[in-house]
Amino acid sequence: ALTVDGVIKRFGDVVACDDVSFELEQGEFFSLLGPSGSGKTTTLRIVSGFETQSDGTVHIDGEVVNDVPPNERDVNLVFQELALFSHLTVRENLAYGLKRDGVDAETIDARVAEYLELVDLAGYEDRDVRDMSGGQQQRVALARALIKEPPIVLLDEPLASLDRKLRKELRVELARIQSETGVTFFYVTHDQESAMSMSDRLAIMRDGKIQQIGTPEEVYDEPANPFVADFIGDAN
Ligand code: ATP
Repeated sequence: ALTVDGVIKRFGDVVACDDVSFELEQGEFFSLLGPSGSGKTTTLRIVSGFETQSDGTVHIDGEVVNDVPPNERDVNLVFQELALFSHLTVRENLAYGLKRDGVDAETIDARVAEYLELVDLAGYEDRDVRDMSGGQQQRVALARALIKEPPIVLLDEPLASLDRKLRKELRVELARIQSETGVTFFYVTHDQESAMSMSDRLAIMRDGKIQQIGTPEEVYDEPANPFVADFIGDAN
């Protein structure tokens, strides 16, 4: 679904991504895990097209997308900062991208209802986003990313601002949504616990370099180096 091949990103003297390569398979939940400043967000921004790499290639569904602008890539992004329109209703937030793409009103209404149901917010169409709780807003943001049915959804710490209980609920929800829709999730986080519990596979990053790629069991049982052992160990 997604191949990142030898990506390098320099910001002046800082090498944020230092020869980053990995591959996501269709329908998998893949996490990029690492401490603050390790290059996770930069990698995700390069995949989404909001940042241009200094070197290397990104392929989406077999096609090189290096020169494809963000809105024409088959990916959708959910940020920690939501970026919902808080003065608009839930329906207006969800319909925004579909309208821009020229989808007709009837189809939009049906899709909005379908995706609100998927994130457990059936019937919330006419609510103002600003009157909803943090967890509900996070689910609206998720529905908005999913409603355009992109093959790959990029999640940048979407659970970070939530309390423990909501985080857990949303984790369960993400897993269910994935099994129902077959979407590929690319999840970026510094939280070992969520990466280890949610991922089919994960990549562990440090100082711009991928340290290890494997299933949670593999990285736990056979860490590639002391850093990985330490970092994963913190979760337990
Ligand atoms: P966090 O978990 O704190 O978000 P991260 O792993 O996502 O961290 P990045 O945000 O990708 O890390 O940053 C990687 C490195 O690149 C850091 O040293 C950061 O200071 C640097 N960096 C990121 N964006 C820029 C920029 N626009 N200009 C200069 N340096 C940058």
